[in-house]
Amino acid sequence: MNAVPYEIVVGLEVHVQLLTRTKLFCRCDASFGAPPNTRTCPVCLGLPGALPVMNGRAFELALRTGIALDGEIPDRMKWDRKNYFYPDLPKGYQISQFDLPLARNGRLAIEGEHGDGPPRIIRIQRVHLEEDAGKSMHDEHEGRRDSRIDLNRAGTPLLEIVSEPDIRSAREAKAYLTELKLLLTYLDVSDCNMQEGSLRVDANVNLHVRPDASPHGSVIETPIVEIKNMNSFRAVERAIEYEVARQYDEWTATGATRATAPKQTRGWDDREEVTLAMRRKEESSDYRYFPEPDLLPVVVPRSRIDAVAAEMVERPAAIRERLGREWGLDAAAADLIVHQGRAFVAYFVDVARELGDPRRAANWMQQDVLRVLNERSMGIGRLAVAPGELVDLLRRVDRGELTRSRAKDVFQRMVETGRSAVDAMRAMGIESVDRSALEALCRELVDSNPRIVADVKAGKSQAIGALVGQAKRRNPNADPSEVLRICIELIGT
Ligand SMILES: [Zn+2]
Repeated sequence: MNAVPYEIVVGLEVHVQLLTRTKLFCRCDASFGAPPNTRTCPVCLGLPGALPVMNGRAFELALRTGIALDGEIPDRMKWDRKNYFYPDLPKGYQISQFDLPLARNGRLAIEGEHGDGPPRIIRIQRVHLEEDAGKSMHDEHEGRRDSRIDLNRAGTPLLEIVSEPDIRSAREAKAYLTELKLLLTYLDVSDCNMQEGSLRVDANVNLHVRPDASPHGSVIETPIVEIKNMNSFRAVERAIEYEVARQYDEWTATGATRATAPKQTRGWDDREEVTLAMRRKEESSDYRYFPEPDLLPVVVPRSRIDAVAAEMVERPAAIRERLGREWGLDAAAADLIVHQGRAFVAYFVDVARELGDPRRAANWMQQDVLRVLNERSMGIGRLAVAPGELVDLLRRVDRGELTRSRAKDVFQRMVETGRSAVDAMRAMGIESVDRSALEALCRELVDSNPRIVADVKAGKSQAIGALVGQAKRRNPNADPSEVLRICIELIGT
């Protein structure tokens, strides 16, 4: 049953940058991409005497996230100084939250190991707010061996979301991150842009070696390794897979366990696809946390929590469930639609309701609508075709005014020109072909192609394709399946 003699144990720490206009404790612009050190002030530079003021919007977004993750929100939270010195943190400490975080004991449901089946619940240990550090760059300039620092990012608001070690595989880690990112995007709390560092992941990984494979007949834990600062889900998956193999090899070679060896910090090398040892991991006592004297504790009355909860948008998991229950979509279709975002879901519901055929609406959304959005790399908000126009097009297919494949061309034209279905059809010279005209055309083709007819009669049924091709050339509006049906009838095979 067990292919490997151990269980993989992973906990993830996710840092997300909040979508605020300004930094967490000052009014500097928090957006990405400005020239180095142009967005700083005495507060985020840590100059003596400068005093922090909490950004209310950042707190609001953090509160929304804590509630959306079903966390317990304490009625009072405070700020703490986390002391450590790096040049990218000019104050010499980071303002964070230590023993009274914004939320505790939350949860996030993710897809089970085999797709369908019951969801897995990953417990969330804590969610807290803190300020980000600046950015160090080492030897990045041609021909110079130097270190530079950009403090634009210093003081931007970060939310840290720490899971319990409930994750059991690299695949599950990816599922958790995918669901968390989707939720944060729906909540409008972060753009989760991983290229710009808006979402960064640290993973704590170790193995629980099974009793039958360990020398003392009891479970043995390998030393915990923290893999720092991965900025793609693929990197997280690969790093966990690498670390699992490395830890098992190390354990079989040295026998080091969590009880005998310290926690280690390793970095992920994306090019070599290996983890490499970094500095010794600080224990929290090394940080000498103490309450931040320049900021008041924040009191969170119950009424405020209730108000945020009341205004909460529908969460992705709830929408998936609704698409299944109200519109009969299977899990895969519902998931695909939910992943396109709130506006896409709303568009689908409009089409499904008006058309009265949710499955067909879902097919169009997944295939044709998604294709044109991807081709043009745009969101559905910019699609020139309103839901009602798409429904009108599909109804015309039902009435036999055009074929399904022509409808795809018309849709493309509607997207390009912003015209209605009827205008686009007219512009493309599409008109429905009268049944008697279609029969006359088929009779003419059968009469003038005796060789093809003979072939078909001799059993080479694929020869009839040539007749359909000729019909298409004579009249592009002819429905190929109708032509085929009539020709078979006329030839009488
Ligand atoms: Zn500032």
